[in-house]
Amino acid sequence: MGQENIQHHHFDGCSFEMQFNKKNNTAKAISGKFNPMLIDPSDNLNTTRYTIHIDGEPDSVRRDYFGSYSLLNDDGINGDTKADDNVYTVEINESEILNDYQLDDVNKPFAGFIELYDQGNLIGKYNTFASIWADTIPLVNVYIDSNIQFTDHIVNMITPLAFDSDLIDHHESLASELYDVFDDNYDFLNFIYTEGFFQNRGHYGVKNMVLGIGLDTFDRTQNYGSLGQLKGISTFPNLTFYDGANRGYVHELGHQWVNFSDDTAMGQAVPHWPYSSMGSGIMGITIPGGAGGNFHFIILEYSGGFWGLFNDTNAASNGFSTLGLYFMGLIASSEVNRI
Ligand SMILES: [Zn+2]
Repeated sequence: MGQENIQHHHFDGCSFEMQFNKKNNTAKAISGKFNPMLIDPSDNLNTTRYTIHIDGEPDSVRRDYFGSYSLLNDDGINGDTKADDNVYTVEINESEILNDYQLDDVNKPFAGFIELYDQGNLIGKYNTFASIWADTIPLVNVYIDSNIQFTDHIVNMITPLAFDSDLIDHHESLASELYDVFDDNYDFLNFIYTEGFFQNRGHYGVKNMVLGIGLDTFDRTQNYGSLGQLKGISTFPNLTFYDGANRGYVHELGHQWVNFSDDTAMGQAVPHWPYSSMGSGIMGITIPGGAGGNFHFIILEYSGGFWGLFNDTNAASNGFSTLGLYFMGLIASSEVNRI
């Protein structure tokens, strides 16, 4: 693809996989999901199933829920649909998850680690989050057109292409299918995968007409079926990552404009900020490998030319840096703080 220069994926303190010394076993989880997808608290005597699709052959697969362990099986028993298809299953009592469910989980409580073992060694560890139904979620009208099901804000599409190794590869055809039904009225599309892929969220530009932010202008809208309105696409490979009110979502949208600077100091940190006071905000810093990381410090001059790193106690509520807001076209250059 010719767009590597403007797309990236990263973790943001919401890491889904930890890599271990895999020795001779390279087994790795591809995706995982709950079935049924939603837990309804008014129905808390039920059992839900968590299934995980694994590429490779671990010796065993275990769920760790706050130190309480259970084995997943691929033997076609205890909720597992088919034996030896590399999809492992564990049955979970819904009340177990609901008992620990807190309001600040925002309908998506942690539901345990899934651990892959080889000869007694942990070779992979993945975290899981359940989805909880709440009466506060409004019911909306659902429409159907051309095999697409949608509400005023969400479109459901089914695509076998989603199981390709790179989720971005099929975005052009998926978006084109969407524009067969909808007018070209959207600046951004979010692709959210209910299959629950263990991949990073990300954002890439489809069209850029903004000068002075380090990007050339480009327009690939026709590849996506847009007549020119579409500006960018954010990808959320699993339901847990998607929350329009959370910092991760806003961070991805920010990548439409931030940071592509070719300035000497700034350019080294593309697509986030360099180690600086700006790093203590939504866009964070770039850590080795290009992923986004947190840098919860401010840099202040404290005496006679000496500078110090100070813990930023406001880090969790910091928004965009003023330079970021300038790149986004939201403030004037005269309003940008000293970096
Ligand atoms: Zn990022």
